[in-house]
Amino acid sequence: MSAKQINLNKSLPPLDETIRGTLLLRHMTCGNKNCKCHKGEKHGPYHYLTVNYPKGKTKCVKIADQDVKKVKRWLRNHKKIKDILERISNNNLARLKTKNK
Ligand SMILES: [Zn+2]
Repeated sequence: MSAKQINLNKSLPPLDETIRGTLLLRHMTCGNKNCKCHKGEKHGPYHYLTVNYPKGKTKCVKIADQDVKKVKRWLRNHKKIKDILERISNNNLARLKTKNK
């Protein structure tokens, strides 16, 4: 794909199939102090999606096993759309610079 011609219809993933964050696989302890997980036998591993927000805030959501594949696809889509937006932005910036000369 050339830098100047971005075929949006071909390269843009579905905008409603995106998610931002980082997928982690973690063993966890639960809230039950008498549970075996507090004696070293932790639960899991489970998938978690952590999402960072401004001011150092983070949201962490447990991802069901059957959703992991979908979430991975959404993460890929999100990155792809961000890359495309960045490229469009750079192209437009270059066009502005050309005009100002
Ligand atoms: Zn437990």
